[in-house]
Amino acid sequence: MAPSSAQACSHPRKRPTSCWPRPGPCAGPRMKHRPETARENVGGLFFARSTIYCVDRLNSQPKAVIRKCTLTRVLPGFPNVWHPTLDNAGPDPTYSRTLDGEVHVATQSKIEWTDRTWNPTVGCTKISQGCKNCYALVMAERLKAMGVEAYRMGFRLRLLEERLNEPLERKKPTIYFVNSMSDLFHEKIPEAYLDRVFEVIAATPQHQYQILTKRAERMAKYFESRNAPSNAWLGVSVENRKQGVPRIDSLRRVPASIRFLSCEPLLEDLGEIDLTDIHWVIVGGESGAKARPMDASWANSIREQCENQGAAFFFKQWGGWGADGKKRSKSANGRLLEGRTWDQMPAGFNLTA
Ligand code: SF4
Repeated sequence: MAPSSAQACSHPRKRPTSCWPRPGPCAGPRMKHRPETARENVGGLFFARSTIYCVDRLNSQPKAVIRKCTLTRVLPGFPNVWHPTLDNAGPDPTYSRTLDGEVHVATQSKIEWTDRTWNPTVGCTKISQGCKNCYALVMAERLKAMGVEAYRMGFRLRLLEERLNEPLERKKPTIYFVNSMSDLFHEKIPEAYLDRVFEVIAATPQHQYQILTKRAERMAKYFESRNAPSNAWLGVSVENRKQGVPRIDSLRRVPASIRFLSCEPLLEDLGEIDLTDIHWVIVGGESGAKARPMDASWANSIREQCENQGAAFFFKQWGGWGADGKKRSKSANGRLLEGRTWDQMPAGFNLTA
């Protein structure tokens, strides 16, 4: 509860240097700073009003308002652009709250090469080095804390049947990234449910669907007895040599019209890779506080191999470490490689398709 009158805190080291999310540390024996937030829906977006109180540690009573401010942006820590890697660098959900107070996650994506996300399942389990700092896991736990129904079990795998028909209701041709918060070929997703997902895809030829998995072998087995809809782009994550590169051979067995690789987060030099029958390769570095660095030579090696073997090349981002090997924000590091952007898409497609 807010104290009735603002009163300066007398302890010199108790003053915060910023209002949120990290007020300066309180060194006083009894006092600490505690941010309080009130969430509200403004123009359909989710905003936070934050007030920092100086709190007596012993009886938890607010003593003074250190700083009071209104933030005119989405809650820090809940970015409105995801890029998980898709998985790790993927699209950040955007949050809104309806008048009844329920928090919703919007599906409009800010991934550089897709329009929207569609998550007929949520939740997953880590399977390889690329999962180490899984962004979807962190987001799922935050959404659980915010009371979002779809994430009431956090990152445990859930089938969300009520979302199956979402693309059927959208007439405007759209590029969907499927399962930005899960892995569609996770071993706990029954084949019968996969059939229903691909029935929706086949029934909506006005849309394109990008499906990326680390369970490449399961995907290949699933399609041994089925045709992939022509509007399904199927891809695998290739983050390193040991776990990622073998997935390329599994992908080649899949009868998809577009096969793609997501080399993100790129964790090492992949060496020579066979891009036969691979149409598109995305490369990116890891973002987030625990991001692992990417060397420019690793990305350039893939770019040159794409040129030589006829695959489209898309450089998504540097992530948390820049081309110069320095750590800074993802946006400051940008997405230039060899002084330019690389936004190639598979033949016949462009970003405004
Ligand atoms: S496979 Fe699952 S755990 Fe791994 S990065 Fe993707 S969503 Fe996260």
